[in-house]
Amino acid sequence: VEQTLSIIKPDSVGDNNIGAIIARFEEAGLRLAALKMIQLTKAQAEGFYAEHKERPFFPSLVEFMTSGPVCVQVLEGENAIVRNRDLMGATNPEEAAEGTIRRDFATAVSANAVHGSDSAESAKREVAYFFSADEIH
Ligand code: ATP
Ligand code: MG
Repeated sequence: VEQTLSIIKPDSVGDNNIGAIIARFEEAGLRLAALKMIQLTKAQAEGFYAEHKERPFFPSLVEFMTSGPVCVQVLEGENAIVRNRDLMGATNPEEAAEGTIRRDFATAVSANAVHGSDSAESAKREVAYFFSADEIH
């Protein structure tokens, strides 16, 4: 089965929406294989989003991702990567479809509630970025 890395971002943690968002994953049939709450360091956030380091929004993205604790989890299931992206909705909540996590919980493109791996290659890197093998069940 496929695994993907999901992050409940600082806006959603601060808004008390951890449980509501995790319920979306479980209701959709994705299984939680690992879960923890952490405060990202600047270096951790920069490394995680390294693919965006030349983009104009990179400094504000790192600032946002380190502004409070995040909840990181490994979601598992058939086609978990695409299914999680479908549950999340578009990057910009104003463009996110009705019933998606970003439509319901995000407030701006810069505070968009959740992250999800965008490919099998990203998922492999991102799961390993936060979890060792013995933390995944
Ligand atoms: P994520 O990687 O967080 O799951 P995504 O894959 O939908 O989001 P990316 O293109 O990877 O979108 O961008 C990473 C993050 O950078 C976005 O989630 C968003 O918070 C931020 N971002 C992207 N584009 C913009 C923008 N134009 N202005 C501000 N922030 C942006
Ligand atoms: Mg992305």
